[in-house]
Amino acid sequence: MSATIVRNGRVIDPANKRDEVGDVCIEDGKIVASKAEIRSPKSEIEEVDASGLIVAPGLIDIHVHLRQPGFGHKETIESGARTAAAGGFTTIVCMPNTSPVADNPSTIAWIKNRAAGVCVNVLPTGAISKGLAGEELAPIGSLAQAGVVAITDDGHCVQNHELMRRAVEYARMVGVPVLDDCRDYNLVGSGVVNEGYWSTLLGLPGWPAAGEEVIVMRNILLAELCDHQIHCLHLTTAGSVRLLREARARGVKISGEVCPHHIALTDEAIQNFDTNYKMNPPLRAQADVDALLDGIADGTLSILASDHAPHADFEKEVEFDAAPFGIIGLETELSLFLHLLVHKHRKIDTVRLIEMYTVEPARLLKLEAGTLSVGAPADVTLLDPDLEWTVRADEFQSASRNSPFNGWRLKGRAVRTIVGGKTVWSL
Ligand SMILES: [Zn+2]
Repeated sequence: MSATIVRNGRVIDPANKRDEVGDVCIEDGKIVASKAEIRSPKSEIEEVDASGLIVAPGLIDIHVHLRQPGFGHKETIESGARTAAAGGFTTIVCMPNTSPVADNPSTIAWIKNRAAGVCVNVLPTGAISKGLAGEELAPIGSLAQAGVVAITDDGHCVQNHELMRRAVEYARMVGVPVLDDCRDYNLVGSGVVNEGYWSTLLGLPGWPAAGEEVIVMRNILLAELCDHQIHCLHLTTAGSVRLLREARARGVKISGEVCPHHIALTDEAIQNFDTNYKMNPPLRAQADVDALLDGIADGTLSILASDHAPHADFEKEVEFDAAPFGIIGLETELSLFLHLLVHKHRKIDTVRLIEMYTVEPARLLKLEAGTLSVGAPADVTLLDPDLEWTVRADEFQSASRNSPFNGWRLKGRAVRTIVGGKTVWSL
């Protein structure tokens, strides 16, 4: 038996509409109703003082690249889990673009086996198409049986709409959502940055907004046709927000996600050719950032995620065109969103931010997580919304350092992460 009482914090549990100063009691890895329910001897009860802090359900990041199997020099499942804990996350969902690709039950079993011993909950996704090639469906039924929480070709995008339709139909049959990296290969071509003023000035191949929006539209039509949930990963353009807003108002099962870099930065940042500003999809113009912020404010964009994409220095330290896309994000995302959405732009309050990291992803993926209900797994995040700190990439838990936010001064961060009743990280 082991027990913990998290005392005197502002408990925000959006799933139960709870927002009050109080205690959260934990015994044997589960939330219990009150101190009176705890049967452990007094000497074995750990007390955590949460005065002045927010006590939230453990945060969930549904979009993380853990790089294993295959690319352990960038990140391992173990280092990625430590990174997540340091960012305040108790559950992370990993993408299938590994080597081998997670398009078969044995690779899923390998990932689950590795994930069993790490400090946070790691949930795998499976590929939509074999080898992420977009030509032949992966065995979606067997992947669901093996325990994937969603199917996605993230890092790639199925271009054949008929194949995608069948994927959505199979996903519906086995009860998992489809997550899509919305990108039309013909329109995007060899684009590496947003098509606009800066791509023209710098002579870099442009990636037009329509390259994303065409596939968002396709996904809306297929979600409607198949009556099944499609989630659009890392949206970046004003047009995508407009399309989603209209479709959601009609009740289409479509949702969208925002990553912190797409609201923290614009394509102006690429003028120094620093490859830590090269991401997929690319940084956009200010009008797009403004539309994303409005989309978050009115609920059109309902999920926040990092797209944590570790790369080694030697891979990023090449010319802009040749560098891989992506940045790490698990250790800065919560702070960036608190800083930008809650403090700076005042688009949402802390309660909604926590909801977007708990209730919304848990609903999308049908997870028993994201709540402090009695009997739920004791996954808890303590955060200080007003703590000011400076990002130091050399202090990251991640095996990689590819972050454009090194040196940024931010307001708000997680200070303790509890998984299954056990503190796995504290500041
Ligand atoms: Zn991704």
